Amino acid sequence: MKFNVRTWLPVTAIILTACGQSSKQEATDSTTANEVSATAPDAETKNQQGYILPGLEHGFEQSPINIVSTPNERGHHSITLYFKDEVNKIENLGHTVQLDFAEGSTITQDDTTFAFKQCHFHTPSEHLIDGMTFPMEMHIVNLMPNEDKNATPQYLVIGVLFKEGKENKFIADFLNAIPKEEHETAELKAGSVKLADLFGVIPKEIKGHYYNYRGSLTTPPFTESVRWYITKHIFEASAEQMEAINKIEGNNARHVQALYGRTVATN
Ligand SMILES: [Zn+2]
Repeated sequence: MKFNVRTWLPVTAIILTACGQSSKQEATDSTTANEVSATAPDAETKNQQGYILPGLEHGFEQSPINIVSTPNERGHHSITLYFKDEVNKIENLGHTVQLDFAEGSTITQDDTTFAFKQCHFHTPSEHLIDGMTFPMEMHIVNLMPNEDKNATPQYLVIGVLFKEGKENKFIADFLNAIPKEEHETAELKAGSVKLADLFGVIPKEIKGHYYNYRGSLTTPPFTESVRWYITKHIFEASAEQMEAINKIEGNNARHVQALYGRTVATN
């Protein structure tokens, strides 16, 4: 089956119907509800994870958003990746595929250093560009070190969008290592999976090549302390690669959220 817009759109529609409160109330016929859960077995799990329609209960700075590519504001942050580039584990979390980084990799925004934590995938993309959804989005999650364990965690997340195209080497290097069973972890041989294969030479400053805005985590608890950087460059992966990831994690993109006066900056 070719992985394209026509393939995943109907499935997305099923999940949204299953998750929408009003739709549930309207589904008085229990057969209909059963059919929905049979075609989208983890719809309830995804509902708990936040694949719900926009709402005010989580605040006014939620993610993802639709990014309009001609923003007015000029960005002033410089961000630089300094990573040791050691991916040492791969996890099948059921709702996503996640790569874990070895300790010591960092990303610096202006003078603030964040520690690389993990990267994971969404199929289709969570962020939209000018209303357009992409087949896949990768999130590189970084956390600001803080001694105070009670303080709200501060994140910097880099979003990388993929379109259908050539096979992607970075993805090819871990695709066959993803554990088949949910909640299983596999060790990766040091140096076998490298972000450098995606971004090129490291350290790398990606100033001038991103959209930046303040938002939230796109999964519970939807904490509104995320500095989002969506790279302008749209990366390529083959339809087979994205379909393989989608097969494992399902359609796990949260619905786009309202901006509520927020602006998107770019350099
Ligand atoms: Zn994510």
